[in-house]
Amino acid sequence: MDSMAYNPYVLDRRVSDWLYEKRFEALSVLWQAAGQTCLEVVGSEVHFRGLIEFSNHCRRNCLYCGLRAGNHRIERYRLSAEQIFTCVQTAVRLGMGTVVLQSGEDPDLSLEWMSDLVRRIKQETNLSVTLSLGERSEKELEHWRWAGADRYFMRFETSNLHVYNRLHPPLCGRKPFHRLELLKVIKRLGYETGSGIMVGLPGQTHEDLVRDIELLIRLDLDMIGLGPWLLHPGTPLGRNPGRYCTRFERQVSNLEETTYKVMAIVRLLCPMVNMPATTALTTLNRKTGIELSLTRGANVIMPDLTPMEYRKLYEIYPAKTDACQDDGDFKKLFERLEKLKRRPGTGPGRSMRHACNLKTKECSSQN
Ligand code: SAH
Repeated sequence: MDSMAYNPYVLDRRVSDWLYEKRFEALSVLWQAAGQTCLEVVGSEVHFRGLIEFSNHCRRNCLYCGLRAGNHRIERYRLSAEQIFTCVQTAVRLGMGTVVLQSGEDPDLSLEWMSDLVRRIKQETNLSVTLSLGERSEKELEHWRWAGADRYFMRFETSNLHVYNRLHPPLCGRKPFHRLELLKVIKRLGYETGSGIMVGLPGQTHEDLVRDIELLIRLDLDMIGLGPWLLHPGTPLGRNPGRYCTRFERQVSNLEETTYKVMAIVRLLCPMVNMPATTALTTLNRKTGIELSLTRGANVIMPDLTPMEYRKLYEIYPAKTDACQDDGDFKKLFERLEKLKRRPGTGPGRSMRHACNLKTKECSSQN
């Protein structure tokens, strides 16, 4: 990345000014503008994506994540295709338009097994399928797209190469910042493409955050997921965050408010994206995190549909929220949306940007 960040203006102020802003009245203007833009551009529907965390096996050793290979304290699991399909049926029964299949970077996930699973979901339901399986080979990504997968989600986590390299020991033979190249491949294959960052990673400065936002804009994404970094005591970063932090006044905080600021800014700069109220954020504020996210730029919720006995094992960070454990909880969630005058989305909740691009391509091929 260039050393100077392009610092775009949002509501007549530089992004960095917003990131340092503390005054309640000023921030209210930002929240209000982001909420309004979301309603005007992507609409008042809130799309439900049923999250199925189907494997916590991981070959990577990311310093922040509880699933890292070096964490021998967690029990590892991988759901069978049948178990996953039961979760998929729950998504259908609850009227969701999408399932998100997420896992650690599981080396034993085979190309064929995953292709069969995606194909079956596409043949037997009307659901859109999002994959979030980490860095996979181009061949795998291509086959899963052919099998019918609609979307791929992979965060670049931070645009600061130094911080990135320190936190993500690369696999043998891979370039350190492989994710950016892969995101290009994912886009070329025609997936709706999602990425994002963690806010408040030890070592991340405010200038980094401006560059992160710039990169999110440049990548021209369909989905952007933003969550605070949460300390996991079983990880190197969690055991000794101070060792990785930068000077106090430069270090970005991993507070709820900082994350809302980034969400609101991103909604104003990339108005067409689909943006979830992330689990990490709603873990910080179980009571009103969903409401605050939805009124400050988010338009997607991702309830966890993983079978109850496995949820606690997908421990990327401790005490993950688990807002929906049964049908009663879903009813409560719908009531919370009603209070905000938002309604659950119907259909797959496709990306507007993706749809616009396809139209443009069709028009230019006709001309
Ligand atoms: N294996 C997939 C999915 C990883 S989990 C992949 O690599 O893309 C999804 C996201 O959880 C990660 O991209 C990361 O941004 C987030 N995450 C992991 N550990 C976290 C932590 N300690 N605090 C907050 N978010 C975390």
